[in-house]
Amino acid sequence: MAQHQFQTEVNQILHLIIHSLYSHKEIFLRELVSNSSDALDKLKHLTLTEDAYKTVTFAPRIDISFDEKAKKLTIADTGIGMNEADLVENLGTIANSGTKKFVEQLTGDAKKDSNLIGQFGVGFYSCYMVADTVEVVSKKAGESEAFLWTSDGKSGFDIEKSERESHGTSITLHLNDEGVEYVSRWEIQNIIKKYSNHIPFPIYLHYEDTRTEGEGDDAKEITEMKEEQINSASAFWKRPKNDLSDEDYKEFYKDLSHDYEDPMFWSHTHAEGMLDYTTLFYIPSKAPFDLYRADYTAGVKLYVKRVFITDDEKELMPTYLRFVRGIIDSEDLPLNVSREILQQNKVLNKIRTNSVKKILSEFSDYAKDAEKYAIFYEQFGRPLKEGLYQDYENRETLMELVRFKSTKAEGLTSLADYVARMQPDQNTVYYITGENEASLRLSPLLEMYKKKDIEVLILDDEIDEIVIPSVNKYKDYELKSVNRSDAADDLKTDDDKKAEEALKPLLERVKSVLGEKVKDVKASSRLSDSPSCIVADSSDPTFQMQAMLKAMGQDAPASKPILEINPEHAIIKKMNELPDGDLFNDASLMVYEQALIVEGLKLDNPADFVKRMNELMNKAL
Ligand code: ADP
Repeated sequence: MAQHQFQTEVNQILHLIIHSLYSHKEIFLRELVSNSSDALDKLKHLTLTEDAYKTVTFAPRIDISFDEKAKKLTIADTGIGMNEADLVENLGTIANSGTKKFVEQLTGDAKKDSNLIGQFGVGFYSCYMVADTVEVVSKKAGESEAFLWTSDGKSGFDIEKSERESHGTSITLHLNDEGVEYVSRWEIQNIIKKYSNHIPFPIYLHYEDTRTEGEGDDAKEITEMKEEQINSASAFWKRPKNDLSDEDYKEFYKDLSHDYEDPMFWSHTHAEGMLDYTTLFYIPSKAPFDLYRADYTAGVKLYVKRVFITDDEKELMPTYLRFVRGIIDSEDLPLNVSREILQQNKVLNKIRTNSVKKILSEFSDYAKDAEKYAIFYEQFGRPLKEGLYQDYENRETLMELVRFKSTKAEGLTSLADYVARMQPDQNTVYYITGENEASLRLSPLLEMYKKKDIEVLILDDEIDEIVIPSVNKYKDYELKSVNRSDAADDLKTDDDKKAEEALKPLLERVKSVLGEKVKDVKASSRLSDSPSCIVADSSDPTFQMQAMLKAMGQDAPASKPILEINPEHAIIKKMNELPDGDLFNDASLMVYEQALIVEGLKLDNPADFVKRMNELMNKAL
């Protein structure tokens, strides 16, 4: 028997693992099974590529057995195995240079150190969270001798010759108080299902099955050893796309999402090169019920080399794509990657960036069929609009994906289609915002656009108010709200300007009547049937926006409206002739008040308004 000391770094790692990961101690099983799976992969590769291994049998399996009384748990595989030198090298030193560097960074500050540990694999040594002593019996494929490695995980390990029937490795844990709970058929099954279900080799669990045979006095208890495969052994997403039918994809989706309905569509990517990863994303046919809840559940699961890592990491997708369901499986991350590390991990960031681009390009493809896209958009259009202000990088793509109501198109229109319908000299995309589609369509603000046959987008979704002003541009076209005072400026003709000039004295008179109620009174060329309208100054938030901020409990600086009056309107023409006095004052107020009402805004004093109206009616009748 040869006694060996652990490399100093191993002692440090052992100490750290035991003290920082014990709240997730069940992961030891995931780590051991993953090592077995790697060992099987290595042997598989050799038997396929090396002549020397052509005669080695490759019968891949992982066997888990336990002895409740003796508090023993064994994980055995038929993989590549280790000889004496391998055991010393692999289970006595830290070969991985990344991990070594990590250990060098350890500061002795437990909290900091345990944050750091998530960057690196903890691997084999994690079994010392649950075991006092660990025995490893291993025989390297193609060699005849087996060795037993034993250690209490404290200072060193012993190696001696041993026996093992075939090549592979068996790891036996002598469980401590922390580990006794794992000598249970159900416990093991649950952990394997959770983390290792998609490991590509079968995992068998061996257990004692006791049943009663015969009846009455003849009844006998019979105990038998049984074995059962406890993982599905196939990572659906790792299979080549050509091997999978639509039915396969749909079935897997239902398993994954617990959705009863088929998905709308999906996207499956095997990426190789700088980064190796597989993604499989699904778009559900219906928006998840918690789409608009702050505590929505994350839809994408993270795997590392087919081993489940987490299904509770919202950072895997930008929030505006929170309805996407699916899987990311990376070959380049450590199994033990912690949440803190995940969120700033370069590998994962790159996968995420690529995934978002991929998903958006799938949406663009889907949008080629307008009818299908309308169904998609009804479910997910609103989160896509959130993307316009969340995801600057993909804004251009998202601008092509969003749809709006319009004064000219049936149903919804894209910005591209709007531009295609624009007047020859038009270089602005006009839109009107407000709460109610029907009243927006009748708004006096649209009169001039109607007359000039200019299309205006109808933005009646409250999120439009937040998102669209932040966008400003679509390609080279400016986006302009007709609710703002300067929207019509570029459409003014010389005649309009002359008429406005002529109206100046009247504007001053109305302004002095309204006083503090308004920011300004202007002549407007945008009206035809209405005498007046109300708009926001180009730099102020629109009135709907102000109302919304108020409803959300935010202090919006109350900005005053601008009153625009129509020089061509009969009432305005008559007002121009009126001398100063009560009648002129009432008319000025009513021109202002009716504009507020049409805009859906509240009057400060409705009773006064009604009084004035009745007086005028009285005179008219
Ligand atoms: P990692 O798996 O991250 O390299 P581990 O500490 O888990 O780190 O394992 C160290 C090394 O021990 C592995 O790289 C591998 O070479 C070897 N090893 C561990 N388990 C087995 C096994 N079941 N069969 C063969 N080799 C193994």
